[in-house]
Amino acid sequence: MLYTGARELNHWTTTEAVMAIRGGCLCGAIQYEVDGPLFDADNCHCSMCRRFHGAAFSTYAKFNAKDFRWLHGETDLRVYESSPGRGWAFCRRCGSSLGLPSDGKLIEITLGTVEGDPNVRPAEHIFVGSKAPWHEILDSLPQYDGRPPGKNG
Ligand SMILES: [Zn+2]
Ligand SMILES: [Zn+2]
Repeated sequence: MLYTGARELNHWTTTEAVMAIRGGCLCGAIQYEVDGPLFDADNCHCSMCRRFHGAAFSTYAKFNAKDFRWLHGETDLRVYESSPGRGWAFCRRCGSSLGLPSDGKLIEITLGTVEGDPNVRPAEHIFVGSKAPWHEILDSLPQYDGRPPGKNG
């Protein structure tokens, strides 16, 4: 459960013990663990994420594939495919959005399903060009009309 790793932090390299991150769906059927850091968190304002979450935007974070494992409930996971192999993963029992799959594997998790502090903060707003007209972004994070330059998937 304990992850010990060296992390670059503002020119300092520190070795710190980080508790594995755990999360799961609303009904508790699905639970996962990430035994390493989350990174590249962003708020996505695209119309598809807004519909899927029924919210102003959705927040995702990436992780290293080797760090991720399902604790239980993987068989309850379903994917709404918007295009072959891509879409949104959710619990078939309670509908909780768990993240973004690619080629049958989760590649980003929804920060809202993490228990406690995920130790990462959203760094930017993406697809702001599709933002809900009733939602006002009040923080000073960078905003991109679509995907940030140089990033894909
Ligand atoms: Zn559930
Ligand atoms: Zn989106």
